Amino acid sequence: MASKWVYLFSEVDEAEAYAGDWDGVRGLLGGKGANLADMTRLGVPVPPGFTVTTEACNAYLEAGERFPDGLWEQLQAALVAVERDTGKKFGDPDNPLLVSCRSGAKFSMPGMMDTILDIGLNDVVAEGMIRLTDNARFVWDAYRRLVQMFGSVVLDVPDEVFEAVISGRRRQTGVTSDADLEAEDWQRITHKFKEIVRTYTGEEFPQEPMEQLRMATEAVFKSWNGKRAVDYRNAANIAHDLGTAVNIVTMVFGNMGDSSATGVAMSRNASDGRNEIEGDYLVNAQGEDVVAGIRQTQPISDLATGMPEIYAEFSDIAKRLEQHYRNMQDMEFTVERGKLWILQTRNGKRTAQAEVRIAAEMVEEGLITKEEAVSRVSPGQVDFFLHPQLDPEARKGATLLATGLNVSPGAAVGAVAFDADTAERWAKEDKRKVIMVRPETKPDDVHGMLAAQGVVTSRGGRTSHAALVARQFGKPAVVGVAEIEIDLEAREMHVEGGLVIKEGEFISIDGTLGEVYQGKLPTVVPDMNDPYLTKVLAWADEIRRLGVRANADYPRDAERARAYGAQGLGLVRTEHMFFETERLPLVQQMIMARNVTERVEALDQLLPLQRSDFAGLFRAMESLPVIIRLIDPPLHEFLPSHDELVSDLADLKLRLQHADNMAALDELLEQITTKQRFLERVVALREENPMLGTRGVRLGILIPELTQMQVRAIFEAACECKKDGVDVRPEVMIPLTTHVNELRVQQSSLENVARRVMEEQGVQVEYMFGTMIEIPRAALTADEMAKVAQFFSFGTNDLTQTTLGISRDDAESGFLVQYAKRGILPDNPFATIDENGVGKLVRMAVELGRSSRANLEIGICGEHGGDPRTIDFCHRTGLDYVSCSPFRVPIARLAAAHAALKHRE
Ligand code: ADP
Ligand code: MG
Ligand code: MG
Repeated sequence: MASKWVYLFSEVDEAEAYAGDWDGVRGLLGGKGANLADMTRLGVPVPPGFTVTTEACNAYLEAGERFPDGLWEQLQAALVAVERDTGKKFGDPDNPLLVSCRSGAKFSMPGMMDTILDIGLNDVVAEGMIRLTDNARFVWDAYRRLVQMFGSVVLDVPDEVFEAVISGRRRQTGVTSDADLEAEDWQRITHKFKEIVRTYTGEEFPQEPMEQLRMATEAVFKSWNGKRAVDYRNAANIAHDLGTAVNIVTMVFGNMGDSSATGVAMSRNASDGRNEIEGDYLVNAQGEDVVAGIRQTQPISDLATGMPEIYAEFSDIAKRLEQHYRNMQDMEFTVERGKLWILQTRNGKRTAQAEVRIAAEMVEEGLITKEEAVSRVSPGQVDFFLHPQLDPEARKGATLLATGLNVSPGAAVGAVAFDADTAERWAKEDKRKVIMVRPETKPDDVHGMLAAQGVVTSRGGRTSHAALVARQFGKPAVVGVAEIEIDLEAREMHVEGGLVIKEGEFISIDGTLGEVYQGKLPTVVPDMNDPYLTKVLAWADEIRRLGVRANADYPRDAERARAYGAQGLGLVRTEHMFFETERLPLVQQMIMARNVTERVEALDQLLPLQRSDFAGLFRAMESLPVIIRLIDPPLHEFLPSHDELVSDLADLKLRLQHADNMAALDELLEQITTKQRFLERVVALREENPMLGTRGVRLGILIPELTQMQVRAIFEAACECKKDGVDVRPEVMIPLTTHVNELRVQQSSLENVARRVMEEQGVQVEYMFGTMIEIPRAALTADEMAKVAQFFSFGTNDLTQTTLGISRDDAESGFLVQYAKRGILPDNPFATIDENGVGKLVRMAVELGRSSRANLEIGICGEHGGDPRTIDFCHRTGLDYVSCSPFRVPIARLAAAHAALKHRE
């Protein structure tokens, strides 16, 4: 460890030589100190000063709160250098130097100690300064600030006590603003403050300037281990051993009259990114007053007329600092009697819109490269453009009812509807905005979800039905909201804490944060067609290697996906079409068929419907690949539930006893027969564990006519499109294969159908047959699989479920919550791929698969495909593409570019 503990702002080169690089300098001097020194080197007017290093802080704390050897001497020497520079003297009443003492860690930390201004003032110096400046009000105001800040920060006197004195004085003198208090008032206040210090600490306010400086420095060091700072670091994931630096800066005064001022400004607009200086300032005030909001500030544009030369100089500095840091700057400045000083600069915080615009414009200005622009924008910032957001101002005053899992981003406002039919009726007939609130959702709730603005469920996890569907359709959703209990009988929901929301009352939800609010909150809508975002994403496309496809089931979703930049469809779930109102009876008829003839009859009616579905998708995705997955879910999902049938039958039988005419009797008897047949079928199909039961390829093997119909529909649609001059690329995907023999049996029969259709139509289309890899055995035997399959798509939802032996719906609202809280699992494996487990299978399957088929196309179509960390994994593992819901396509494009940048050698 060095024995140089103190660096003058002018010694930045030495600091850099010692620390190695700029990041090292920031670690050594803290962000604030490093930039003050850096600006000094650039020739920006910074008041002279120096920084006591973070290493000194650590040494002090390690030694049990004792200055390390040499520190105090170096600090005194640095002060002498500053005195020489400024021509003033610390503690000299005839020519006093005052300084501020400012903490500054490597990363900005709001939980840290506050700044102390005007160190060096005491009774004698105050008298001297009044003589020098002929401005008693200014001096007493400065002195009281010192006692107040020193008292609260160093001596732990509660600040309210000081504030009470000031407000008491205002009342006494009958003024409303501090600005109207006069010299004498501030003098009295200062005396009172010193009295308070004496009462609270039993000691006088230190009059010796060097003593003030020593105590202030120690207080900054100690604040590193203060509770606020420790909590903040824990929350923000900042290391505890970085330490904080202490910056001692010559005081400059913005409160010395009308040619003095102080302000804060951003080099560009922080809300929309426009390239113009934005900020506030106050004439005749000290820096902290601007933030404190004591007086109404003026917009920085007024400075252009009020102090044109200062404004010109400031604009010039802002530009230079932007050029230097190649980023938008957030600056503090003070004008002391016509002379401009810069007191701080750092990269400015900004909204997602501003981030994107600034990145795009800085590329065009030649300030940064396209790669830098792409890496500056985060996936979350892109996501912002895709969804309306709750107005942040309105959110502050609103009543937060409950929080749950933030499964589908964006804001939604509407009347609570407790079932899908009500939701749809209100939305369609009454043109009302509704939020569908359910304990959980099922496939037959989808029409309600589509009609609703957003969805809330009290149960369910990240990959629950509600979450999957909501994300797919871009509906904001909060699921697993355990704090609400839904009473479907009473049509109301009970919120923990006693509030009751009745059906029809308004709520507002934030799917980005997982929050549910009472009432109607205003929303704001960002724009996905933002020209700057379009540019950044186009650059991302140039950089990324991974392809991006979408999971979409309907032509309109496919069109949206394409508009968002999807390069194909990675997953079309054919069964979603089966749930549509006019088709479900046909599907049921097919399931209920007593023999092959009956089944084929039903399938024949489904064929043209499926064909037109596929044709629509092919047209929407012209010239791009479309992966269609054959039917996957267990058949019982298309039939009424067992319990529902039993209760319907009991009801019908009761009505039969009271039937009073033949017609009614016949009608009832027929209904009973039908229901009974349904019940028998449901009982026959019943499985203890349907998700591991008769589904996926197993269905196609047991009921070959079903998947044959689907393949016929696919190829008839493809041929039809091709005849119309539409270039089509169908890829037929067989789900849930476990053994290569399943694939052999199913695929060869389906390929025959494909060939037959093309012969019939006299058209050849380019196509592939492939399989989902979503069972560990399929991954383990991928070399065998790839001998038959021409492509793989990892179904990581099922693969995670089967590899971990975890049922996702049960687990995500159950023990997984505990596991996440207690850190037993690092991440939710259904949100981010479990790289060491599931990821190992994926890697193995990629290698094995390509070993038997070099040009095997490999992608991922699980929910993970839209997760940036999983996308990074997919990049490293050499997948060809990721596929995700249309609304995540832009995010995936960016994340894929980030992965490519990160792993460039
Ligand atoms: P924060 O990190 O809370 O902004 P700062 O150390 O930047 O704390 O200081 C708080 C306020 O005091 C800012 O407005 C800053 O400009 C002002 N200030 C700090 N040091 C000086 C100084 N030497 N002269 C004048 N104003 C100062
Ligand atoms: Mg500051
Ligand atoms: Mg699956």
